[in-house]
Amino acid sequence: MLNHISYTQISTYLACPLKYSFQYVEQVPWPFKPEGLIFGSAIHQALEHYYNGRKEGRDVPLGEMIALYDAAWEKETTENAITIRFKNGNTRDSLFDTAEAMLETFLATVKPGEILAVEQPFSVDIMDPVSNEKLSVPLEGRIDLIERIPSGIAVIDHKTAAKKYDDERVANDLQLTAYSYVMSRQGHDPEDITLRFDVLMKNGNCSFLSYPTFRTQKDHVRLFKTAQSVTRGIEAGAFYPQKSWMCNDCVFAGECGKW
Ligand code: SF4
Repeated sequence: MLNHISYTQISTYLACPLKYSFQYVEQVPWPFKPEGLIFGSAIHQALEHYYNGRKEGRDVPLGEMIALYDAAWEKETTENAITIRFKNGNTRDSLFDTAEAMLETFLATVKPGEILAVEQPFSVDIMDPVSNEKLSVPLEGRIDLIERIPSGIAVIDHKTAAKKYDDERVANDLQLTAYSYVMSRQGHDPEDITLRFDVLMKNGNCSFLSYPTFRTQKDHVRLFKTAQSVTRGIEAGAFYPQKSWMCNDCVFAGECGKW
């Protein structure tokens, strides 16, 4: 029985309902962790440390960010003792060099606004803003960063990526729609909120790219309908495989083969 739903749960179910079941219903132990997940999470922790420092009014040197990154890897390999699956000949050392270059680029490029919140938790009712119909479970999660910028407020999600984002992804991404919806529940007009992916690129010459966008009430209606359909599917036990390119990296591929 669901007691809340998160953006990650919604997107996992939309990508593959059977994967959702393995992860959230059956809670099948992971046989390994893909390097990309650990890398992304470790970079994320370094950025969180940077923005917390800025919020307190201090500069954060590269060494501190690298130390946070490295500690995140250490935790996975010693405390969590899980096998890490590397790709493309990568090693922990080669990824460390990549991370160092990326964080250096970040520090040289970033122009933060006034930091209003870092890793802001939320729990809001999911409502259709037109009909006022309400789902039985709230939407829960965290917003990476909220900044005051010259045009108002920016709500930001951090990503690491190997490829540049295209316009369609930025315009339709459900995570940014969820952030916009959360801000509207807190009294903001969605069209006054700048939503942004801040993306640290991994490949070639490192770069730090920002993708601003915004959402309207119509997007919030679609979010409601999507969340409603997904929660109905989960509560009805509608779990089935959805084969895609993502199967290559799926941690449940072995379990899926036995299904
Ligand atoms: S291997 Fe593919 S189809 Fe099977 S659970 Fe994973 S993502 Fe779904």
